[in-house]
Amino acid sequence: MRVRPDGPDAHLRLFDMQDQGFDSDFLVIGGGIAGLMFALKAADTGTVTVLTKAGTADANTWYAQGGIASVWRVDDTFESHVDDTLRAGAGLCNRAAVETIVRDGPEAVRELIRLGTRFTRIPEGGEDEYDLGREGGHSHRRVLHAQDLTGREIMRALGEAVAAHRNIRLLDEHLAINLLVEKSGGQPLRCWGAYVLDRRNQAIRKFLARATMLATGGAGKVYLYTTNPDIASGDGIAMAYRAGVPIGNMEFIQFHPTCLYHPLAKSFLISEALRGEGAILKLPDGTPFMKRYHLDAELAPRDVVARAIDSEMKRHGLDFVHLDLSHRSEDFIRRRFPNIFNQCLNFGIDITREPIPVVPAAHYMCGGAVTDLNARTAVGRLYAAGEVAMTGLHGANRLASNSLLEAAVMGRRGFVAAHREMTEDRDRRPPEFPEWDPGRAIKSEEHVLVTQSWDETRRLMWNYVGIVRSDRRLERAMRRLALLKEEIHSYYWEHLLNSDLIELRNLVTVAELIVRSAQSRKESRGLHYNIDHPAPDDAHWLQDTIIEG
Ligand SMILES: Cc1cc2nc3c(=O)[nH]c(=O)nc-3n(C[C@H](O)[C@H](O)[C@H](O)COP(=O)(O)OP(=O)(O)OC[C@H]3O[C@@H](n4cnc5c(N)ncnc54)[C@H](O)[C@@H]3O)c2cc1C
Repeated sequence: MRVRPDGPDAHLRLFDMQDQGFDSDFLVIGGGIAGLMFALKAADTGTVTVLTKAGTADANTWYAQGGIASVWRVDDTFESHVDDTLRAGAGLCNRAAVETIVRDGPEAVRELIRLGTRFTRIPEGGEDEYDLGREGGHSHRRVLHAQDLTGREIMRALGEAVAAHRNIRLLDEHLAINLLVEKSGGQPLRCWGAYVLDRRNQAIRKFLARATMLATGGAGKVYLYTTNPDIASGDGIAMAYRAGVPIGNMEFIQFHPTCLYHPLAKSFLISEALRGEGAILKLPDGTPFMKRYHLDAELAPRDVVARAIDSEMKRHGLDFVHLDLSHRSEDFIRRRFPNIFNQCLNFGIDITREPIPVVPAAHYMCGGAVTDLNARTAVGRLYAAGEVAMTGLHGANRLASNSLLEAAVMGRRGFVAAHREMTEDRDRRPPEFPEWDPGRAIKSEEHVLVTQSWDETRRLMWNYVGIVRSDRRLERAMRRLALLKEEIHSYYWEHLLNSDLIELRNLVTVAELIVRSAQSRKESRGLHYNIDHPAPDDAHWLQDTIIEG
């Protein structure tokens, strides 16, 4: 059944769909690594529609720098990668998920290579010899990378493979609004696609499919400062929740300690390697502070550094702190950090002479739509993979470079499950879903109402539900979110939909899920730190936080 891109059997379909009204066999919502890995497998057996709400480069995958973790060299073992992952996860990883994903890793990486990804090789090395990076928490060198632009290279290769496959239709600027869910007695049974807004002409239509893969990435935009691109508004989480899928472990948000603070700089990461080379964190008056927080000072673990910066900012009412490498020679800095040097210079900061203003920023969401080890959600024919999903790999904290690994592995596993289920249940038909009805909605004339709610949500999440939390801050956040939710809800139904409004509604839903999860966990563990419950409580909290959809 393999479809060759140039073969006579291009556009082969899994089933004869002529009179059944399906747009394609598979609908993939999201064109990052998880969605495209699924799509490329699925397209060998049926037709695939991939939706992205912006363009190819607007995906977290595009921005990944460090690389993808996988056991690669003979001196490394699956057991070691599993142990490292379990240690980082602070007691909440699902061992079966960790073992499965780690063991599937090398095959997923080989597939990326087969599809054209050019990871950085060892100079003069053999065919299989790649330059493996070692990152925090890993006991071996096992991070394959393409210089410091790994995500971009993966997206280039996957993008070209997708473009060459005639069974895949990739639609940019198509934003999924809600899933089409068949129900019985109010209970969700199966998913048959989604309602989708074409942003270019504002038209909304149904995309009917036999199986739907949610691969919409993370939700960094729920915070004022984030390393994520604009697409990361948590749409997939909100859609899955509305469809009845349980959502898990949303309190575990990873913050990167140092993101450039500048009004015009969006999401620019200042790599940890700067601290590795001696950069010092200081208050604006020049006082270093990290020694007060950890013996290793600037080289303390990521979450400790993020909490220290946050604490100093809150104590002194600062918008940022400084990261200073100017004591190193100009020649060294230019050679070692050419990209950071140039980017900062573009914003008028010469890092060879002056410190860099930095803030911590929301970076990665460990929780998400709960799936099993085949990417299946609680709703039939609805799968989820990548940052939107919670498989149990990360537990309470993500080990560096395990996220690309999880997305690549689960995209592939999701296809196997979807294909099997569609084939076993091949005669099933969807119920009649109505066309999108705007009712009496009118065009929105007051955009400020949307932008104000965006800003309010992101700022309150940053201040009350950020790196350090307290019972009182969480309670306040919940009260304000309830009000925002009510306002947004009525605005949503009274006005014609546009992407800002759809994203805002999703953003507030995700914010609420994070706060509810954080409120329910009365302890501190992994990435969740609450000053009113500063210690882990294994007796009561060695379990996931699950919110029913
Ligand atoms: C700066 C940065 C550096 C990172 N570095 C690393 C690293 O070195 N190693 C590592 O393992 N991880 C890293 N990560 C994390 C990793 O990149 C992501 O977790 C991973 O790429 C997520 O892939 P994904 O396919 O799930 O989602 P994404 O790549 O984010 O793709 C999401 C897709 O969904 C689409 N979408 C979203 N909502 C909708 C909607 N409503 N309708 C239609 N389409 C929608 C988007 O348009 C996009 O195409 C980094 C992240 C960032 C931000």
